[in-house]
Amino acid sequence: MTVSHILGYPRIGAQRELKKVTEAYWKGDVTREALEATGQALRLSHWQTQQAAGLDMVSVGDFAFYDQVLNVSVMLGAVPARFNAQQEVSTGSVDLDTAFRMARGRAPSGTPAAACEMTKYFDTNYHYLVPELHKGQAFTLASQRLFDEVEEALQAGFTPKVTLTGPLTWLWLGKTKGQEFDRLELLDSVLDVYSDILSRLATQGIEWVQLDEPALVQDLPLAWQQAYERAYHRLQSAPVKLLVATYFGALGDNLSLTTRLPVDGLHIDAVRAPGQVESVIDRLSPHQVLSVGLVDGRNIWRADLAALRERLLPLKVRLGQRLWLAPSCSLLHVPVDLRQETELDAELVNWLAFARQKLDEVVTLARLIDNRTTPADEQRLSAATRALDERRESARIHQPAVSERLAAITAQDSQRQSPYAQRSHAQRRLLALPLFPTTTIGSFPQTDAIRAARRAFKAGELSQADYEARMREEIAYAVERQEALGLDVPVHGEAERNDMVEYFGEQLDGFAFTRFGWVQSYGSRCVKPPIIFGDVTRPTPMTVRWSEYAQSLTQKPMKGMLTGPVTILQWSFVRDDQPRATTCRQIALALRDEVCDLEKAGIHVIQIDEPALREGLPLRQSEWQAYLDWAVESFQLSAAGVSDSTQIHTHMCYSEFNDIIGAIAALDADVITIETSRSDMQLLNAFQDFAYPNEIGPGVYDIHTPNIPDIEWMVTLMEKALEKIPAERLWVNPDCGLKTRGWAEVEPALANMVEAAHQLRQRY
Ligand code: GLN
Ligand code: ZN
Repeated sequence: MTVSHILGYPRIGAQRELKKVTEAYWKGDVTREALEATGQALRLSHWQTQQAAGLDMVSVGDFAFYDQVLNVSVMLGAVPARFNAQQEVSTGSVDLDTAFRMARGRAPSGTPAAACEMTKYFDTNYHYLVPELHKGQAFTLASQRLFDEVEEALQAGFTPKVTLTGPLTWLWLGKTKGQEFDRLELLDSVLDVYSDILSRLATQGIEWVQLDEPALVQDLPLAWQQAYERAYHRLQSAPVKLLVATYFGALGDNLSLTTRLPVDGLHIDAVRAPGQVESVIDRLSPHQVLSVGLVDGRNIWRADLAALRERLLPLKVRLGQRLWLAPSCSLLHVPVDLRQETELDAELVNWLAFARQKLDEVVTLARLIDNRTTPADEQRLSAATRALDERRESARIHQPAVSERLAAITAQDSQRQSPYAQRSHAQRRLLALPLFPTTTIGSFPQTDAIRAARRAFKAGELSQADYEARMREEIAYAVERQEALGLDVPVHGEAERNDMVEYFGEQLDGFAFTRFGWVQSYGSRCVKPPIIFGDVTRPTPMTVRWSEYAQSLTQKPMKGMLTGPVTILQWSFVRDDQPRATTCRQIALALRDEVCDLEKAGIHVIQIDEPALREGLPLRQSEWQAYLDWAVESFQLSAAGVSDSTQIHTHMCYSEFNDIIGAIAALDADVITIETSRSDMQLLNAFQDFAYPNEIGPGVYDIHTPNIPDIEWMVTLMEKALEKIPAERLWVNPDCGLKTRGWAEVEPALANMVEAAHQLRQRY
């Protein structure tokens, strides 16, 4: 029999129950008992779901009130000293509130302290809490939660497989604090605790433990490769069976290393890396099981069961009982249950599978290759084949005009008419801006009044005309405030936008939106990515009337505001029937039309935001260039249709540019605004070293805090910038958009910023 299992299930609940209860707990609206009870109810219901679907084991250890990596940090006693938990750690009972304080700085009990850093988990949009590592740090088993959950599952009669971030991936995800040192120095002490954990699990009667080691799909230094061997030899003596789970890509140069690990099984990603399956099998030792991840855990498309069966049959012949089936990775990265999507049209629903549906796919596949199919399986098989056929042929997906336009793209289309040096003259003539021009990144406060108006409009309580009139009032207010503040390049403020991707997706053809397609982004925060299902076109202009209106209110050059093609792609579920690059170019062409229409409407400064450009980087450096090539080309395609005198801006809100500065320069935006205030302008070194040729607006204050930046401080920051970039190419602006702030903070902050620019003008 082929074993079917999953690497993890979404924990948020179909109705985001976990989000609601944790937020209520943080606010003090529900008790700890109520919080724990909801957690337990969710776990039980998820196990029930997995068992009812026919999986051979249920996944325990994938639940977390905040983050599964944080859970491991807590379990290892890696609680930074500022949280005052030494006592809890030494008694092996770190409190849940301590974990919440690590995650968000505060909790209903305990003294607030600076939260741990949070960052994206590999190339997903899921954020984990970065383990803090100190030289000489000691680890100890500091939480019993996992064992309690195992007990809970056993009591309820389930067969659990325990899942846990593996020791090396945990260290790999960690960052050293204080004195620099080699993280691997800590490995032995970490392994001591893992050994304890595995022994405890064995006494509870656990047979299989899955250790997630996605670090194995990345470029690992030699010392880390060797550490893998050392670590797993050490864990080999544990009285449980170990399944090392790899996902998000190919093992590549870690292939022989991984297959040589003395463990009982491996899981590999056969969706992202279909080519590696046979070579892994060639190297597997005769007792090892191979869990093949053939159902896509990162996307929402229905699996082609017939094709997968064909793919699996020869593997079954080679592996027999040693073949396991699973989704490619944890289902944490997809929405919970498609059956809730009663408002999505039936045709589209038929093409999709969310977490709940993916369980059925895995189970049916296992039975198909075992020749023990039930009538339900036969029905699923033929339904999948029919749906896939319909999807392939659907007129909603393929628009000949789109492929023709893509095929006709020439190298010229992604190049501006003249090089920057020439354009800048034309722009200076047209825009007549002072030295150190001031601007903002686009959004102004999304007030309760704005949100209430949008809710009323969506609920049908406010007419389209009334809603638009309300948004115009907001725009007029934002423009008036900017006039009063004396900003040189005002914006309309983005009042009309719910979200920077959703807003565009809703107006483009080829996008669909779910009602409950939530995916955990971090802690209690969930996002609902759009689904790009078909060729992308722009039926009508999207932003022109708003920008035109805003321009009519001022003599200053109004900056038009768009989300870039790479960011729209990156924050959506995308088609799996064509390369990402193709989808990205389609979005780029739709945006190009918008950019040209804005220009025609008299908007001569246009910003195309690409905050997600960097996070699209592949996990392997060898694949970076290919990605950057099409990402850069897409941006250029969207931007390059305008005349020299139209100034193109872009914005990115992260702080690592060193390794992609060449691509950033290749975007050839006339102006780039970036987040720098917290880096003390260090970030500009990359631009200086590269001799970055165009204009830069290094953010002079951090919009993530309510603090009002003072004038002197911003002048000092700009003086640091001036050591690296000449005055004629510097702009003055905040780090990012202001939508999360209130006007009471924004006005004095911008007034100070404008004053700082004035003082700089007097000196240079
Ligand atoms: N224009 C957007 C805004 O101001 C940019 C947001 C972002 O960088 N993520 O809000
Ligand atoms: Zn930003």
